[in-house]
Amino acid sequence: MSLLKILTFPHPILRKKCRSIKKVDSNIKKLIDNMIETMHAAPGVGLAAPQIGENIRLIVIDIGQGAFALVNPKIVKKNKTLQTFEEGCLCLPGIVAPVERSSAVTVKGLDKNGHPITIEAEGFLATVIQHETDHLEGIVFIDKVKDKTLIREVSKKEEEGKNKFI
Ligand code: ZN
Repeated sequence: MSLLKILTFPHPILRKKCRSIKKVDSNIKKLIDNMIETMHAAPGVGLAAPQIGENIRLIVIDIGQGAFALVNPKIVKKNKTLQTFEEGCLCLPGIVAPVERSSAVTVKGLDKNGHPITIEAEGFLATVIQHETDHLEGIVFIDKVKDKTLIREVSKKEEEGKNKFI
């Protein structure tokens, strides 16, 4: 396995809509392994393929309950109730801001083996899934911060100590 380079904003790839993956082949499986390793090393709790320069619909997540991948994730249901978490992004190091998102989502996609899966998520996991699927549309979290004065800087130590970089 090898660590991948995480792009930083405003790299143009981060603003592009990603294309679907046709087949979960050995190259995709290898990329998933490398993305999980890169996410853990960062450290972060999620990583989307465009963040490492691949314009394809693939995300990996690990909020401390084990890492998993979602190929071609699609949010099929969103709770109307909103929640707010302070988020950071591995592509925008050093800043965090509160972001309002749905408090629960249902997401469908393929797993690492190409098998269809459905995940019902709430709380922080729901936020992470929405943050990552936004990346596949070229959207970054600061786009969703209504009050830009709430964007604050964090030290390297705080950045590494809290699991909010996605
Ligand atoms: Zn991000």
